[in-house]
Amino acid sequence: MTAFDELMTYERDTQALSRVAGRLSWDQETVMPRGSAAQRAEESGAMEAVLHARRTDPRVGDWLAAAEAPDAAGAAQLRLIRRAYERAVKVPADLATALARLTSRSQGQWAEARAADDFAGFAPVLEEVVRLKREEAEALAGSGDRYDALIDDFEPGMTAIELAAMFDAMRPRLVALRESALAGPDRAPLSGRFDEAVQLRLSREMAERFGYDFTRGRIDKAVHPFSSGSGDDVRITTRTAADDPFNCLYSTIHEVGHACYEQGIDATYHLTPVGQGVSMGVHESQSRIYENQLARSRPFCHFLYGRMREAFGEIGVTDEDEFYRVVNRLHRGFIRTEADEVQYNLHIMLRFDLERALFAGDLQVADLEAAWNDRFAADFGYAVDRASHGVLQDVHWSVGLFGYFPTYSLGNVYAGCLHAALRAALPTLDKDLAAGDPGAATAWLRENVQQHGGLYEPREVITRACGSEPTAEPLMIYLEEKFGALT
Ligand code: ZN
Repeated sequence: MTAFDELMTYERDTQALSRVAGRLSWDQETVMPRGSAAQRAEESGAMEAVLHARRTDPRVGDWLAAAEAPDAAGAAQLRLIRRAYERAVKVPADLATALARLTSRSQGQWAEARAADDFAGFAPVLEEVVRLKREEAEALAGSGDRYDALIDDFEPGMTAIELAAMFDAMRPRLVALRESALAGPDRAPLSGRFDEAVQLRLSREMAERFGYDFTRGRIDKAVHPFSSGSGDDVRITTRTAADDPFNCLYSTIHEVGHACYEQGIDATYHLTPVGQGVSMGVHESQSRIYENQLARSRPFCHFLYGRMREAFGEIGVTDEDEFYRVVNRLHRGFIRTEADEVQYNLHIMLRFDLERALFAGDLQVADLEAAWNDRFAADFGYAVDRASHGVLQDVHWSVGLFGYFPTYSLGNVYAGCLHAALRAALPTLDKDLAAGDPGAATAWLRENVQQHGGLYEPREVITRACGSEPTAEPLMIYLEEKFGALT
C-alpha cells in the first residue's frame, strides 16, 4: 500500500468513530433516558480520548510527509487532513483536557446564571474560559492573529479584518432598514392553538418537498433543533409550540437545508474528510437559503398558506398577503434565535465585535455585560431589560465557541450570492415555489454546492457556483427589496 492509501484507510476509521461519537450526542439530545447522563458523560469522554489519540498519532505526520495525491480529490483530502493534524498537535494535550473539563462545568453555570439573570455569577468561570481559549489561540496562531486562529476552526481562510469590513458596510443599511420596518406598531404573530401532531406531519411533508431523504435520515424532537451526521445517516430534530406553528415548520426547513447538504455530497467521499460540509459558513448558506430565500418567499407563502389552512382550518389571518407579512414580521425583540432576516445580522455583528475586543485584550470579561448593553442600545434603539435577554442568552461562549458567531452572517451573505445565481439560472423559480415545488432549486444547489463537500475551499465553492467572488451586496439588495416592500 502507498502512504496515501494507508493514510486514507486510517482516516476512514477515524471518520467512522467520529460519526459514532456524533450519534452518541444525537441520542443524548433526543431519546436517552434521563438517568443515563452520568454514564453517557463517561462514554463520550472515552470516545473523545480515542479520537484525540488518533488525530494526533505521529503516524499521521509520517504518512502526510510521504503521501502523494493520485488526483484532485486526493489533494483535497491531504489538504484537509494536514490542516486538522497540524491544529491538533499545536494544542498541548493538558490544555485541551483542561478546556474540555472547564467547558462542561461552565455550561452548567451559564444555565444557572441565565435562569437567575445573574451575569456576575457567571463572569468568573467565563473569565477562565476566555483565559484558556486565549492560550489555545496563541498556540494555534503562532505569530498570526489570535482571533483569526479561532475563526479558522469554523471558516478556514476567513479573517476578522475581512469580516469587519463586510459587517461595517452592512450595519448602517441594516439599521436603516430595521428602523423603517419598525416605524409602526409591532405586527402580531399568529394567534390560536395548532395541533402539534399536525405541525409535525406538515413539517415532515415540507422536509420531503425540500428534498430530505428519509431513507437515510429521520426527524425527532429536541429542545434546540439541530442536524447531525453525514453521508448515509443524517438526522434532524425539530420542536413544536402549540401557539406558533412557524417555529416548527421553519426550524425543520432550516435543518433540512443543513441535512440536504450532507446528504447531497458525492457518495465516493463518504467517511472521508472531503465527505462533509466544507465550513460552517457554507453550511449555514444552505440552511438559510432553504429557510429564507425559498421558504419565506412570497410565492412559497402562497402555497404554504393554502396547505396550512387545509391542515389546521382557519389560522387567524385574513388573506395570504397578511400571511406573508406575519411569516416575515419584524418585532422589537432581544433574542438572536427569534430574530428576522434583517435584525439577525445585527445580533451577530454585536457578538463579533465583542469577541474580537475580548481576544485583542481591549475588553475584559468583567465589562462584557455593560459593553453588550451599550452596543445593543446603539444598534437596536432600546435597552436590554435583563441579562437573559442580553449577554447570557447564547450557550456558545460558555462552551468556548469563539469565532463561531460570524459564520452565521457569513452564511446569510453566501445565501444571498447563491440566491442571485439561482434566480438567474432558474427562470421558473417563482412558479415552482408557488406550486410548493422547490425541487429544481434544491437540485441546482446540490449540483453547484452540495455535491462537492470539502473538495474546494469555502470561498471557492461559492465563487464557482456564482461565477464571481462572494460579497454582501446581493444579500443587502435582496433584504432592501423584500423588507422595503413589506413596510
Ligand atoms: Zn443553522
